[in-house]
Amino acid sequence: MPEQEGGPGHFIQDVIDQDMKLGTYGGRVHTRFPPEPNGYLHIGHAKAICVDFGTAAANGGLCNLRFDDTNPRKEEVEYVDSIKEDVRWLGFDWGDRLFYASDYFGQLYEYALQLIRQGNAYVCDLSQEEIRAYRGTLTEPGRESPYRNRSVAENLDLFQRMRVGEFPDGARVLRAKIDMASPNITMRDPVLYRIQHSTHHRTGDKWCIYPMYDYAHPLSDAIEGITHSICTLEFENNRAFYDWVLAALAIPQPPKQLEFARLYLTHTMTSKRKLKQLIDQGHVSGWDDPRMPTLVGMRRRGHTPEAIREFCDQIGMAKTNSVVSFAQLEYCIREDLNRRCPRVMAVLRPLRAAIVNYPEGQEEEFAVENNPEDPGAGSRPVPFSRTVYIEREDFMEEPPKGFFRLAPGREVRLKGAYYITCQEVIRDPETGAVAELRCTYDPASRGGETPDGRKVRGTLHWVSAAHARPAEVRLYDQLFLTEDPSQGDDFTANLNPASLEVLTGCLVEPGLAGASAGSRFQFLRHGYFCVDPDSTPERLVFNRTVSLRDTWAKVRDR
Ligand code: ATP
Ligand code: MG
Repeated sequence: MPEQEGGPGHFIQDVIDQDMKLGTYGGRVHTRFPPEPNGYLHIGHAKAICVDFGTAAANGGLCNLRFDDTNPRKEEVEYVDSIKEDVRWLGFDWGDRLFYASDYFGQLYEYALQLIRQGNAYVCDLSQEEIRAYRGTLTEPGRESPYRNRSVAENLDLFQRMRVGEFPDGARVLRAKIDMASPNITMRDPVLYRIQHSTHHRTGDKWCIYPMYDYAHPLSDAIEGITHSICTLEFENNRAFYDWVLAALAIPQPPKQLEFARLYLTHTMTSKRKLKQLIDQGHVSGWDDPRMPTLVGMRRRGHTPEAIREFCDQIGMAKTNSVVSFAQLEYCIREDLNRRCPRVMAVLRPLRAAIVNYPEGQEEEFAVENNPEDPGAGSRPVPFSRTVYIEREDFMEEPPKGFFRLAPGREVRLKGAYYITCQEVIRDPETGAVAELRCTYDPASRGGETPDGRKVRGTLHWVSAAHARPAEVRLYDQLFLTEDPSQGDDFTANLNPASLEVLTGCLVEPGLAGASAGSRFQFLRHGYFCVDPDSTPERLVFNRTVSLRDTWAKVRDR
């Protein structure tokens, strides 16, 4: 487990330090990550995972993975499996502490009976709408339900009959009996149980009443011996009820709920419901579309767990909501990929260049360095022959000032190979477009070395026509055009119609032929790329993870 990663915010650590000093939990720190299995995890969850597991690790404690599977209608086994895989991929380990709130349905039911017996809960026959109407508003107190003062015996009888399935969905609920005039609306007799005749992915048809999250959560924490129950700010108002449940049931050493600010990223949507809508409406190809802020999507795009953890660490923990720039996430991924990725040459929009004075049929290999950032990474052989492809945008017939690449009569370096000079431009007879270049090379510049002190200002990447492999390259841009895509009536109106560009005629070095899905490379001057699972030996497919920030400064001097 990465030590200290996602390091705790001061306000959370302060509480823990105080508990350590007072011996509140006998020196224990035990946290949990409690996802609802109703979708795939996204970058916001990554933050929560780093905080939950990171806080435990930083304090010599433990962190559980617990599925909050209290709503059988929305939850699926597919999501459970993906969540486990994603947490592991991020680099965290729950050991043998994988739990489900549904493991506790029996105990939660017993606790509910106890609350009824103590006069702390009652069965209410109001409909959902009536309950809402009776609840009041921020400025007006609520009204008591006419069923609020049922006897304990009647409540026990009705609740048990709810449990055995005598009533249809929505006919009755069990509610806590707290205070309909409380200034905190969540304390106005919140619902504890609802009737729902649905099959649960783990408990099958054993239950037709299901506990509400707000009731199940504090008790699941208590049952697992959680000490610090870290969650996001939207649960701040629920803390009073969290504490009420534990106090009403006289739980010893009750866990504490601590809230931190949710992560919001610019140009990004982090709501499972809305992400699912993007899939259902066909705006993206699935949960693992590389444009999605899901961990499966980011993984397919080429993001690394190390970079994501570093990002979560850098943004720290706040007590008020704020929005983090997507650029910061990209900065972290670049830093990480820069260290780890071998450099290779790939021509995304090829322009053919024949080197007319290079002997017909001759081939040679150049040793090209793999990573200038890492001298230990060595070099690889790259084949060269009489015809090469260069990037179309590296040639201009009438170059403007400041364009240092190839132009008629101009000499440039082919990275690691030779100096070449453009002698002639061949046009497509029909369209007049540049179809091919005729160039000459200087044999004295072998290996890209400078002959006789003659300097060139441009260094181009290239591939040998006889050796290059075809590839498809998928370029991505922000999925949303607006910084806050949730603005407006329909967030899908903010989608970027150009978020995906597929280039099919690309050519890459032959050494990439066997690259397996998930391998990552820096394509010189283009950015960082990752082999997509769609890739086959015949047709390589790459996703651009992120572009290089400053293409030219990096390559020109080498
Ligand atoms: P969503 O709105 O995407 O459904 P959620 O909060 O309902 O998110 P859960 O599965 O209930 O998703 O979340 C599990 C944990 O992840 C919770 O503790 C929640 O607070 C945390 N979490 C979810 N989104 C974020 C976020 N954007 N930033 C930080 N933590 C988050
Ligand atoms: Mg939720």
